Amino acid sequence: MNKTANISPFVNEPFVNFSLEENKQAMEKAISKVKSELGQNIPLHIGEKKVFTEEVITSVNPGNLGEVIGYVSKANQPLAEEAMQIAVSTFETWKRVPPRERAEYLFKAATLMRERKHEFSALMILESGKNYAEADADTAEAIDFIEFYAREILRIDQINEIQPLTKVQGEDNRLTYIPLGVGVIIPPWNFPLAICVGMTTAAVVSGNTVLLKPASTTPAIAHKFVALMEEVGLPAGVINFIPGSGAEVGDYLTSHPKTRFISFTGSKEVGLHISKQAADTSEGQIWIKRLIAEMGGKDGIVVDETANLDAAAQAIVASAFGFQGQKCSAGSRAIIVEAVYDEVVEKVKELTEKLAAGLPELNYPAGPVIDKASYDKILNYIQIGKGEGTLLTGGSPAEGNGYYIQPTVFADVKPDARIMKEEIFGPVLAICKASDYKEAIEIYNDTEFGLTGSYFSSDQDRIEEALETMHCGNLYINRKCTGALVGAHPFGGFNMSGTDSKAGGYDYLLLFTQAKLTSRKL
Ligand code: NAP
Ligand code: MG
Repeated sequence: MNKTANISPFVNEPFVNFSLEENKQAMEKAISKVKSELGQNIPLHIGEKKVFTEEVITSVNPGNLGEVIGYVSKANQPLAEEAMQIAVSTFETWKRVPPRERAEYLFKAATLMRERKHEFSALMILESGKNYAEADADTAEAIDFIEFYAREILRIDQINEIQPLTKVQGEDNRLTYIPLGVGVIIPPWNFPLAICVGMTTAAVVSGNTVLLKPASTTPAIAHKFVALMEEVGLPAGVINFIPGSGAEVGDYLTSHPKTRFISFTGSKEVGLHISKQAADTSEGQIWIKRLIAEMGGKDGIVVDETANLDAAAQAIVASAFGFQGQKCSAGSRAIIVEAVYDEVVEKVKELTEKLAAGLPELNYPAGPVIDKASYDKILNYIQIGKGEGTLLTGGSPAEGNGYYIQPTVFADVKPDARIMKEEIFGPVLAICKASDYKEAIEIYNDTEFGLTGSYFSSDQDRIEEALETMHCGNLYINRKCTGALVGAHPFGGFNMSGTDSKAGGYDYLLLFTQAKLTSRKL
């Protein structure tokens, strides 16, 4: 048992430097190994049972469409119901397992994932189209989440640190955070390991059992995590793995009377739909379902005339085009004050043109987008952008046997343009000119979302003002708006970006528990 885990400070998993030849070779080796194992049949996990179904989800490499990652069995409603019954009965035993023991499964999983991190990253490179650094950061975040939440349940178990109760003579008063019940976990594909792992382990280490419905484009990497939890001896039935269609299995489970909570990360549209489903009570339901929903963003970077313009341009390009702009935190808007507008725009154009598109497994900086639906949607937004701004670079599909799109920059976009308002979720940056920093902040705030933002300036007073007035869950100064670190930058957004659950923070596990007060007369 890891007795010191809640004493030593938490340290983030370091990122691998792939400019070193030995690290690059280690990843290439992992990719070859993973490639030699592709194309297998992947089962559902329902309690102890592995279920192979006739109908499957064929997971393909979005950067190399001929390459099948795996044939993933697909749950329907009867199988989802079976998994629900198992989760309900397993909850009765799992909730009695002491927090320390529950944490121990996670500590073991973190250790194993750390040992095999390139293998996890390699599968993501092939299944989701991440380049080496993006995949490595995803795996590092997954390891961090597992380790962090294991430590957190130990901290919460020492209840007085969270909420010391006032002493009352003649009474023994205690507050205990107990688990909720069965949770439905619905992650997105864009952090196909980290978010899936974080949402699942937080729920489970808090004493709940779950039905994990992975995103349909990245079920193989989700399964690799589920297999790891099985390997460390997590009791069967605690995590039930049921890939399937959001509309069919998702709706069935979110409206199920035995569902106690739903933890969702994905688009605004689906999040709002689930919120409605969760609000309705069905026959036999004896609770209000708890919903944790983290949704989309239309994040942006504000640059004033006192800023370090090279640093600002680099941050704009990294935030807009990291993983092809497919991050909820992606800086899809840049708002630049008039005095330095032309200079910054020129630098952004130059840096963007260096991003060559190509195969993720060869570590090109610009890979494919996730699937045909995204590809079509993004190209459609590029058409819209052509009517709303000046196309500076990109604007077309890129070469390759996959969903490649050139990193695209539009300048002179008006604040109310669609490409300034709507989440595109692809490699498209809209740049807008503001007369001064105050107007720039107003434009930044003029959105229904509120996830991440950055302000670039060297003026301390303005920085103070920006810290107060830029309205988003994660606000950064003089750095990019992507790349939140577990424990350091608890993550979640305002308004239509979600319930601001602050994943990777000290409030997060409480969302998966309910507090019980007991007062005993002495
Ligand atoms: P999505 O289309 O909303 O899907 C998210 C998940 O919901 C998937 O597992 C999907 O399953 C499932 N789903 C779809 N319809 C459902 C239904 N009716 N009932 C239950 N589940 C349903 O989002 P995405 O395309 O995977 O991810 C991109 C979005 O996620 C972006 O908007 C991004 O900003 C957001 N995101 C937010 C955060 C954050 O922390 N705020 C982090 C990452 C991503 P299928 O795959 O089977 O459709
Ligand atoms: Mg989707």
